[in-house]
Amino acid sequence: MRVALLGSTGSIGRQALEEIRRFPERFEVVALAAGHNVEALAAQAAEFRVRELGVAEEADARRLQALLPWARVRWGPEGLAELAALPEVDLVLNAVVGAVGIFPTLSALRAGKRLALANKESLVVAGELVMAARKYPDQILPVDSEHAALGQLLAGVRREEVARAWITASGGPFRDRPEEALAHVTPEEALNHPTWRMGPRITVDSATLVNKAFEVIEAHHLFGLPWERIGVLLHPESKVHALVELVDGSILAQLAFPDMRLPIRAALTYPERLPPAIPLPLAPLTLTFREVPRERYPAFWAVLWAGREGGTLPAAANAADEVLVQAFLARRIPFPAIAQGIAHVLERHANARATSLEEVLAADRWARAEAQRFVERIAPRV
Ligand code: MG
Repeated sequence: MRVALLGSTGSIGRQALEEIRRFPERFEVVALAAGHNVEALAAQAAEFRVRELGVAEEADARRLQALLPWARVRWGPEGLAELAALPEVDLVLNAVVGAVGIFPTLSALRAGKRLALANKESLVVAGELVMAARKYPDQILPVDSEHAALGQLLAGVRREEVARAWITASGGPFRDRPEEALAHVTPEEALNHPTWRMGPRITVDSATLVNKAFEVIEAHHLFGLPWERIGVLLHPESKVHALVELVDGSILAQLAFPDMRLPIRAALTYPERLPPAIPLPLAPLTLTFREVPRERYPAFWAVLWAGREGGTLPAAANAADEVLVQAFLARRIPFPAIAQGIAHVLERHANARATSLEEVLAADRWARAEAQRFVERIAPRV
């Protein structure tokens, strides 16, 4: 299997390379791309002897080319799209962070490549465009614990037998904090996720539950599940990742230790399942579930609404969230302002049908600017 690994220096990318090192006879890495972390990318390219490389900007490309004169270095969204469609590539693992990840997603699908998809924005922002670009049903393999679980559960039943599906959420580090204390939580506390090891934006998105609203949107597109049949349950133990209730009332659940290497390996080795096991001891194991409380996670409900409304609203929600999370991490706005800013931007967005990538990206740009104005207005002057 010849792999293009896009987003190779991030959390998913590095764990994917750990898995690839485990099975050297099965995989050949033929392309790598990263954002600005040129030194780490150069080290990976040297280790895996990869010639085809991509970075975010032209200046990064020049630095990388100076380090690796023998490499072919591309940059920007076009560079990512080219790497995803290289003739020698069998599987593209898209772990790019941000809306730029939509470019290699569409390019890989149109070129008929199998796509292991960890880039959230592809389905959140451009779900209909992405699903329409598929050439065969199982072309997209989700690299996310909840969707990997749903895929396994739904593969074993007929669609008319499914009454309802759920994905679970840990509830993040502030699950049991008194609500009035949320105005004073720090980026360090938000980044200290109770059960998962992930990148900074998604970790903050787990604290607001915005990540879970995005995952509902992804599940809707990926599995063609109607909105009213996808639920979210708070499950602090993060051992059950998804459940499917059948028409006779029996419920199937997928359990696994919360470790991203599992969905990464499942996508890389699809349709096989390979050891070594990442064990989940069953005894003692307590599983608790509860509904998502409405007041504690206002951003979750706002983004879910945007997803159901569709059009360019999900793109606006994603872009606003990215700007607001950055501002929170930079200590410019308090934690509750992430949700307030998302609501502010969504209220002002003139929704339109998302019939092309240009329209989606225009909504993304508008929402980014609007969220930035919101930040400037409430951030204290320094
Ligand atoms: Mg997830």
